[in-house]
Amino acid sequence: MNGIVPPYLLERLTTHADERVSACAARTLTVDETLRVKRTVAVPTVRATLVAPHPQRTISDAANTTALPGTTVRREGDPATGDVAADEAYDALGATWTLLQEEYGRDSLDGAGRPLLATVHYGDRYDNAFWDGERMVFGDGDGQVFRSFTSAVDIVGHELAHGLVQATVDLVYQGQSGALNESVADVIGSLVKQRLLGQTAAEADWLIGAGIFTDQVQGVALRSLAAPGTAYDDDVLGADPQPASMADYVETTSDNGGVHINSGIPNRAFHLAATAIGGHSWDGAGRVWYDVLEGRMVASDADFAAFAAATIRAAGERFGDGSPQQTEVAAAWTEVGVAPSAPEATSPAPAVADTVRVERSGGLLGRVHVAEVPESALPQPERDRLVSLAETVAPEARPVPDGYTWRIEISQRVDITVGEQGLPDEVLALLRGILERGERGSQQEG
Ligand SMILES: [Zn+2]
Repeated sequence: MNGIVPPYLLERLTTHADERVSACAARTLTVDETLRVKRTVAVPTVRATLVAPHPQRTISDAANTTALPGTTVRREGDPATGDVAADEAYDALGATWTLLQEEYGRDSLDGAGRPLLATVHYGDRYDNAFWDGERMVFGDGDGQVFRSFTSAVDIVGHELAHGLVQATVDLVYQGQSGALNESVADVIGSLVKQRLLGQTAAEADWLIGAGIFTDQVQGVALRSLAAPGTAYDDDVLGADPQPASMADYVETTSDNGGVHINSGIPNRAFHLAATAIGGHSWDGAGRVWYDVLEGRMVASDADFAAFAAATIRAAGERFGDGSPQQTEVAAAWTEVGVAPSAPEATSPAPAVADTVRVERSGGLLGRVHVAEVPESALPQPERDRLVSLAETVAPEARPVPDGYTWRIEISQRVDITVGEQGLPDEVLALLRGILERGERGSQQEG
């Protein structure tokens, strides 16, 4: 009658080394105690099976392969494993869950206690972290540019936020709606970090992924919400390509239409609104942005203008029409050059005749690598394999948030876009070979 977890186990958990587990257990006990007391005076036929919401985390280890999910290494309430990546992922999943639950009353990504799944040590020195629609996947980083991705709680918050978006407004991962998907993920990721550190909007660093670059990189983070375009400027990575306002909007077909690039614009709108409103960001602008998601106040193909209009409406509903919060939200969008309403137009990239063009883009940074080789330069079996890929590629091979996206064009005959996580290893090796042979140099669009 005290729920799934018996009180004696909860008592033990209150002394658990992980304070989120112990706090959760303590809350559960308090609720259970309240229920017991009530039950002695209330109608006895009501059998409560209520346990205070708590995260349900499962961390798996891919052991440096690309096989998902890998071996389970830590379940909810388990003690630390001693593996840094697994334990960091566990804690960061908890911090994200706690923000959603304690500030917005939402039990996990779907509002119904969805288990939080993560796999660490994905691939061989894999340079990315992504959300595959089911779980968070973390590479270890190559040690040259990137350290492990689990060390940054905002990266974890970012990835999980893709799951939150998927469960609410489900913004299409392409063009402006894709950039909004990216921006909302950055916003939630930053809120997770700010809340964990107890920072106000004025105190926060507004960086995403601070500390995940090695010392060899000239840069402080992946992105800056306060000053898009200033997070890094490096020989290998190039310069942070993010625009800070619509005047510098980047038209591109790479990176799913520049989802990691143009997200700088709505990111800065959020930063401007949050700092102008003041206090804790999750109470002001964060609350408004969350309301737009939770209330499904935009269509899945929303552009910046539609999203801006929704936040202004949400601020009015939350804080009152004409309230300072609503005024600041509207002013923030004006500042970045977004006028509420008006649609966008996208243009497809032209295919080049007699050429095999291979492009790898996306990832957390939205970097672009392109190779073009004459069709005749490829052995026939390789050409055949790529042509057959168009018919055999699995439905789950779609691009996923922050995953790498491959676009393969063969003259006028083939033009496919697939997510790297869905490609067979042998095809991936083939594509990497073409990229090495024909790359025109590591490119940064914009
Ligand atoms: Zn993302």
